[in-house]
Amino acid sequence: MDIILLGPPGAGKGTQAQRLVETRGMVQLSTGDMLREAVAKGTPTGLKAKAIMAAGELVSDAIVSALISERLDASSDKGAIFDGFPRTGHQAAALEILLDERGRKLDHVIELVVDEEALVERITGRFTCANCGAGYHDKFKLPKVEGTCDVCGSHDFKRRPDDNEQTVRTRMAEYRAKTAPILPVYEEKGLVRRVDGMGTVDEVAAAIDAILDS
Ligand code: AMP
Repeated sequence: MDIILLGPPGAGKGTQAQRLVETRGMVQLSTGDMLREAVAKGTPTGLKAKAIMAAGELVSDAIVSALISERLDASSDKGAIFDGFPRTGHQAAALEILLDERGRKLDHVIELVVDEEALVERITGRFTCANCGAGYHDKFKLPKVEGTCDVCGSHDFKRRPDDNEQTVRTRMAEYRAKTAPILPVYEEKGLVRRVDGMGTVDEVAAAIDAILDS
């Protein structure tokens, strides 16, 4: 099964994708994660993407489509969760070709429907364990012992440089202008399923499970 998780930044795509990796063995294909890795390693792609990401704008369609293409085959057995891709009409068209070439097709496009103002609060408060990646939030999910990761005990935490209010507003505007318009195309194909993304992580997970098991 191949699915897209669609929704503005902070809608919970990454959290839900990670859960599907754990519960179903699906493969998460997050272009944001791939780009952050490229930036951290200082690859040519990373060097091109760094400033664009810091501004909250979109990296070129060619770069992100190439990243997906390189990793698509690793997901052929258990299925892929496209997380943060596609984000433009060109990327959606590229994905269709990539899947078609492999005899695969999209099963669902799951839209996480959220309130934008609440998202700014969600995003600007989030941080992760620098060692194991466990996610936390200043207001909604602090570690049980202050300064210590619940999962691995590390004392190192990090925040994404693009999780500040100004960049978040640009990321939202990019979503509205370039990503939301691809929904009607998937709608016409009968692929879109909507989930209330304002529920708890478990509630959203249950709604996604219901779609995947239907
Ligand atoms: P994300 O982790 O999905 O929020 O992505 C973080 C940043 O990486 C975005 O604000 C963009 O600058 C860039 N990015 C990630 N995925 C894409 C994509 N599919 N197309 C263009 N830019 C992307």
